[in-house]
Amino acid sequence: MRKKLLLGNWKMNLTIAEATAFARASIPLVEKAKAANVLIGIAPTYLSLATVKQHNPQLIVSAQNIHFETSGAFTGEISTSMLKELGVDWTLIGHSERRSYFGETNLICNKKMIKASQDGFTSVYCVGESSDDYDHGRTKGVIRDQLLIGLAGLSSEQMQKVVIAYEPVWSIGTGKNASKEHAQDIANYIRERLEEMFNPLIAEATLVLYGGSVKPNNIKDYLTQPDVDGALVGGASLKVSSFEELLTNMIG
Ligand code: PEP
Repeated sequence: MRKKLLLGNWKMNLTIAEATAFARASIPLVEKAKAANVLIGIAPTYLSLATVKQHNPQLIVSAQNIHFETSGAFTGEISTSMLKELGVDWTLIGHSERRSYFGETNLICNKKMIKASQDGFTSVYCVGESSDDYDHGRTKGVIRDQLLIGLAGLSSEQMQKVVIAYEPVWSIGTGKNASKEHAQDIANYIRERLEEMFNPLIAEATLVLYGGSVKPNNIKDYLTQPDVDGALVGGASLKVSSFEELLTNMIG
């Protein structure tokens, strides 16, 4: 039986002081999630990782990105060992904003997936089609390539620490969320591809999230789909009250 996962992605939002206040205020949520067997976490900016970890140690704390090299002349980048020193061993990889604004290709994502896996991280690999791809019926082809290239070289054992987040680019931050039927169809398609690439056990055990304008009033629609195990949430994760409502509606 797969667990459920609620993961907030703060992107470039919240100062250290705001993140600290959120971390303190969200302690009861973590207890509530635990009681319902739900995993709950936040991906703050790098600057706020330490304070969120310190003030809410039971919350999963994830980086939003990593570099694929161990160290060196990569100005502005952060390595896995730096994150591990903070006790952070989760990361997003290939978020659509990284892909579209910072030129991250499937091949770059693959290097990051391999690095994260080698260093014992749980990676949330983000996939999703653009609105043009969606309009032209290319969704499954795009997802297929993102999975084939992004996960190439990972072993079945390493896949046990991989979560897939299906996030249609046209739905992120736009208020245009995908229908629950579409989310289910693609989540199921992802499992089929994982079965082909790895094995039926990996296809069955991997957590597949939906992301894209998830709000307290629509999260339940996704969570009632058989192949959707949770949500990756941007805007609605920024306030504790809204994050709590997401959790309540997800488990209720
Ligand atoms: C995201 O950042 O991954 C996301 C899905 O954002 P939003 O919920 O704001 O659409």
